[in-house]
Amino acid sequence: MLTTNRREKVARVDAALSCVYGDPEWSPSLDPVGELVLTILSQHTSDRNSGAAFDALHDRFEGDWHRVIAAPTEEVARTIRSAGLSTIKAPRIQKVLDEVRRRTGDFDLRFLEKMPLPDARRWLMSLDGVGPKTAACVLMFSLGMPAMPVDTHVHRVSRRLGLIGPKVGADRAHDVLAELVPASRAYPFHINLIRHGRQVCRAPVPRCQICPLTGLCDYFQAHRDQTRQEAAT
Ligand code: SF4
Repeated sequence: MLTTNRREKVARVDAALSCVYGDPEWSPSLDPVGELVLTILSQHTSDRNSGAAFDALHDRFEGDWHRVIAAPTEEVARTIRSAGLSTIKAPRIQKVLDEVRRRTGDFDLRFLEKMPLPDARRWLMSLDGVGPKTAACVLMFSLGMPAMPVDTHVHRVSRRLGLIGPKVGADRAHDVLAELVPASRAYPFHINLIRHGRQVCRAPVPRCQICPLTGLCDYFQAHRDQTRQEAAT
């Protein structure tokens, strides 16, 4: 019953966001291994910094992942320094690439799109250093599969709205939201939640006064009731 109510709420939030931000259409980004490397680079930094690091890595090693694996780790770290945490990310990238090559004999992960979604997620998450968000980014952005990445915006907005419980962490939220969001809506819902998180439902203070979702939002409801109680005392 609770899940049914939350599904209905997701549908209403999705429709409202779609009215405000439109319905973004998916188009393929990088190949899956490229997306995997880019997502590791994007951990704890901006898209701009991780994009610059990815381009530098591509240029330095001419897009040859074999050469990235074989290079001294310090050289890879130097090349990707614009992404930050490069001494952690460089060995992680080399290890993931090496493991992909060992398991597949190549760097082609397109076979994942023929797998059921939970199996594809499990396959990626069995790679050292790949968590639910990185796996979901590869599956959604590169292969168009309905795995919804839960980044900081998606997590914060979903929690304030009450789509997920107040104590549900970002990793667990991947499973909860997968139950609630129809596959056909995963991509536009993901993109629109991020837009809303950046523009309106900001951290640390949401701009509820201009938000079209007040009627659906647990956070707004709770704070309005609290404000009324304080005014009455
Ligand atoms: S009403 Fe406020 S807290 Fe709720 S989604 Fe909108 S901006 Fe975020």
